[in-house]
Amino acid sequence: MTLATAPRYRAALRTPPLPCGHRDPILCETTPSGPSTYSLDRAELAAEAARCRAAGWTSDEVAERLAVPA
Ligand SMILES: [Zn+2]
Repeated sequence: MTLATAPRYRAALRTPPLPCGHRDPILCETTPSGPSTYSLDRAELAAEAARCRAAGWTSDEVAERLAVPA
């Protein structure tokens, strides 16, 4: 599987870019800014978090990007 076809890569494309321009924090050499809701409602945010986890993001990585309620 190449990077461009990996589920994680496709999930990252659905998230807004980080301030540095990356979409997947795994690519960052610096710590990204804090998590955001991206103006999604609670259900949409939970659905996006579930997609990220299904695509291989760890729970910590999801929490770094998405302000998912505990
Ligand atoms: Zn970056």
